[in-house]
Amino acid sequence: MTRPTSITIDLNALTHNFQQVKILSPYSSVISMVKANAYGHGLIKVAQALSPMTDALGVACLDEALVLRQAGIKTPILLIEGVYSQEEMQQANRYKLDFVIHQIEQLQWLQNTPFTYTPQIWLKINTGMNRLGIAIQDLEIFYQGLMAIDYIKKPLGLMTHFACADELDNPLTAAQIQLFEQATAHLPAIKSLANSAGILAWKQAHADWVRPGLMLYGASPFANKTGLDLGLKPVMTLKAALIAVYQIKKGQPVGYGATWQAEQDTLIGIASVGYGDGYPQATKGANVLVNGVPCQLAGRVSMDMLAINLQAYPQAKIGDEVVLWGQGLPVEHVAAHAQTSAYDVLTRLTGRVLV
Ligand SMILES: *Cc1c(COP(=O)(O)O)cnc(C)c1O
Repeated sequence: MTRPTSITIDLNALTHNFQQVKILSPYSSVISMVKANAYGHGLIKVAQALSPMTDALGVACLDEALVLRQAGIKTPILLIEGVYSQEEMQQANRYKLDFVIHQIEQLQWLQNTPFTYTPQIWLKINTGMNRLGIAIQDLEIFYQGLMAIDYIKKPLGLMTHFACADELDNPLTAAQIQLFEQATAHLPAIKSLANSAGILAWKQAHADWVRPGLMLYGASPFANKTGLDLGLKPVMTLKAALIAVYQIKKGQPVGYGATWQAEQDTLIGIASVGYGDGYPQATKGANVLVNGVPCQLAGRVSMDMLAINLQAYPQAKIGDEVVLWGQGLPVEHVAAHAQTSAYDVLTRLTGRVLV
């Protein structure tokens, strides 16, 4: 018997979420972010579905881009961290990739690699996140250096990334927008600032290109809202099944550490999913859906299994479907009960459940 644990991917939901991006920022082109295996959803499948709609795909590194090219995807692909070596710069040319430049070494590698293809370059400017990006005082020199290269696409791309766009009352985002605008106003270029939170909450930052990730998958970047609250639909549903159902007596514990005890005689179900599949081990008190009925976890999550208090669904039996998140149960619910983010929960899935 095959273990009844898997994800389903709703490509209609993906299309719906992409359309929400277009409704929110109708004048911007879109780089759909598919890094980290499309946030755990399956890189090739998601990229194939997005390709007819999106202007470009965004990945973290060359390896991810090569998977897409080898799958026959011809859509423009942006390496969001740029390349890591001169050798990779040659690969970027060979596979017709676009890329970010965020430091001097990358500019030098580009100058030393005569391209046979005309890449779109995005010069990344640090406006306060202090992760990747050139300092504002170096903008002029980088800009001139890039403009002097005749084998790259013009106008050049200028981009920055927000540190706190998910916090609506944090003044850093407005400061980053202002800094970026001031520094780049006089430079002919295409411009990009907004991730999902920027698209949803900072209209003034939509600019020429937006870069949605999380919202495409139907989840919310904001702590107090779910994707559903924002008009998005969950793309992934993680499902398992009950592999055991039994009664325990009042006072009996369940699971490792015996951290949970039955307050009364209770029906317990064991589902075929655990942290070895990517369900967060730290999750406490979250609901799952057993045949659509919300039931609470009982005790600690194990590697291959988790226990469910079936009090709310006494007719449960072996083989019943258990939804961990997705259709009917927002992934944000699990993230909140695991003290983490929807980004983290979605990208943690392991090879066991990925298709
Ligand atoms: C991942 C990423 C995004 C997408 O962020 P979301 O919050 O998932 O929308 C946008 N821009 C850059 C540079 C990224 O690395």
